[in-house]
Amino acid sequence: MRLVRFRRDDRIATGVLEDDHVHPLRGTFFENPVPTGERLSLAEVRLLAPTIPSKVVCVGRNYQEHAEELGNEVPEEPLIFLKPSTAVTGPGDPIPLPTLSHQVEHEGELAVVIGRLARHVPAEEAGRFILGYTCGNDVTARDLQRADGQWTRAKGFDGFCPLGPWIETALDPTDVGVECRVNGERRQYGRTSELAFGVGTIVEYVTRVMTLLPGDVLMTGTPAGVGPLSPGDVVEVEVEGLGVLSNEVVPGD
Ligand code: MG
Repeated sequence: MRLVRFRRDDRIATGVLEDDHVHPLRGTFFENPVPTGERLSLAEVRLLAPTIPSKVVCVGRNYQEHAEELGNEVPEEPLIFLKPSTAVTGPGDPIPLPTLSHQVEHEGELAVVIGRLARHVPAEEAGRFILGYTCGNDVTARDLQRADGQWTRAKGFDGFCPLGPWIETALDPTDVGVECRVNGERRQYGRTSELAFGVGTIVEYVTRVMTLLPGDVLMTGTPAGVGPLSPGDVVEVEVEGLGVLSNEVVPGD
């Protein structure tokens, strides 16, 4: 099932996407939503980020080839960091290039959307706490990441966490392709079977530290091939069996 958030005129709502139609829901995804009985054409609505997380928890250096391309090793335990909720944007939203950075890069990733309050969840039970999956772009100011020693600025600008286009509830995340294209050209590709730490392990590791709330997002790490973005570029993140998240890069402030 594909779960969407959408805007139509002044109304923002959740819904289920079937073919080219959205069936709106009453309420959130997390509290027994009920179909309203309406049926809207996909062309009539604008899709939004499919979740409004309280936080986005990311895993760094989770694909060996990507760790190596930046001169790092895969860590012995998951290396986690946060992106603020204000970084989240939706499909079709612009990615603004901040004037503070001269090297902003794409990181296409499989994103996990949490469905239930999760605390101390064993890896083998993680599936019960996951609503579904979406495409994510862990946009990174690489020059600030190198300069700062920690990553809050580099990862935290407004618009640096595009998510979407929807939440796929039926995806098996153990071996799907993750691809990032810029202007139609493939820049990154990997398979989630190459993840040093899989989804269950990430859920267990993170929930030993902090409670995950419904709608929170885990970014599973990016495959090799990260590279710079320029104004006018169109970045697409595609997760096999899920869909394509597309965003245009624009000058920021
Ligand atoms: Mg990343």
